Amino acid sequence: MRIKEVHLYQHDLPVKNGPYTMASGAVYALDTTLVKLVAEDGTIGWGETCPVGPTYAEAHAAGARAALMAMAQGLIGTDIWPLAVNRKMHTLLNGHNYAKAAIDIAAHDLAGKCLGVNVADLLGGAVTDRVASYYASGVGAPDDIAALAKQKVQEGYPRLQVKVGGRPVEIDIETISKVWEVIKGSGMRLAVDGNRGWTTRDALRVSRECPHIPFIMEQPCNSYQDLEKIRPQVSHGIYMDENSVDLNVVISAVGTNLVDGFGMKVTRIGGLHTMRTFRDICEARNLPHTCDDSWGGDIIAAACTQIGATVKPELFEGAWLAAPYIEGNYDPSNGIQIEGGHIKRPTGPGLGVTPDETKFGSPIASYGG
Ligand SMILES: [Mg+2]
Repeated sequence: MRIKEVHLYQHDLPVKNGPYTMASGAVYALDTTLVKLVAEDGTIGWGETCPVGPTYAEAHAAGARAALMAMAQGLIGTDIWPLAVNRKMHTLLNGHNYAKAAIDIAAHDLAGKCLGVNVADLLGGAVTDRVASYYASGVGAPDDIAALAKQKVQEGYPRLQVKVGGRPVEIDIETISKVWEVIKGSGMRLAVDGNRGWTTRDALRVSRECPHIPFIMEQPCNSYQDLEKIRPQVSHGIYMDENSVDLNVVISAVGTNLVDGFGMKVTRIGGLHTMRTFRDICEARNLPHTCDDSWGGDIIAAACTQIGATVKPELFEGAWLAAPYIEGNYDPSNGIQIEGGHIKRPTGPGLGVTPDETKFGSPIASYGG
């Protein structure tokens, strides 16, 4: 079975109660890009990529669309299977994993539908239909974030990620301390995410001043080299997020014991095919990790949920979804929702969600047909 048509769509996703604040900036609305692949027999597969503004990573929405336009014509006539699609993409464009991820996700959706199986089963088999999520606070006042933490414990979230950075580190330390007072004894796990915003000086100070609080530091500082510098000096576990831009970085970080786990974005690493390899590398070294949405709607949320459902449960740190922060669903009847801190996995063929494509308007570009 071959790819007959590729269609690209642009869609705006408003942030609920916005803006959402991180060390790198504030986000008011998301500019998402959708890919529709059509196979020779008319079967449709959907993919999506949605950078969270232009400063979070080396990714931006217009760049995703330019990269997709550069590859789309070359994909016509390619076998629909994800390995073939990924290899073909690498012959058409170097890098740009976050754009390739949209096509990769669509190829998984398409392959699943053609075989009549769910994407989690394509990826090795689901171990659960109730996938753990985690809640990420924005950067906020210590008392506000502590109140939020209390609420999220009550809602049933197994894990909380507190955003820090971009302000005096004393406020971050106060925030972490107040959150811990609220959640200790509840069983909720705690991650402190600097989103590259701390200096190594700040990270060392936080670890030194909070020795009794069992959080992990997620991407505390800007670079891979910063992590190497603080690694021998901190007593807290370090997870890599933004720096793990491809499998080569992951292999180096794992092989040199630089990290204790990862926050991983399905789109950053290049989609589900690469994510599956990442999952298996982490399992070989017993490293916990997330399977996150890097924002976006139901398509990315479904992709994260499907791969998350295949991760060894004791190593799974949850799937963060943008769903609680954005308005509405693409799939009006079966859209992805978080309830009780967990995601109900759609079990239909492919990704298990069917977007109402009238929401996306006309394609911005179409190829093949
Ligand atoms: Mg992170």
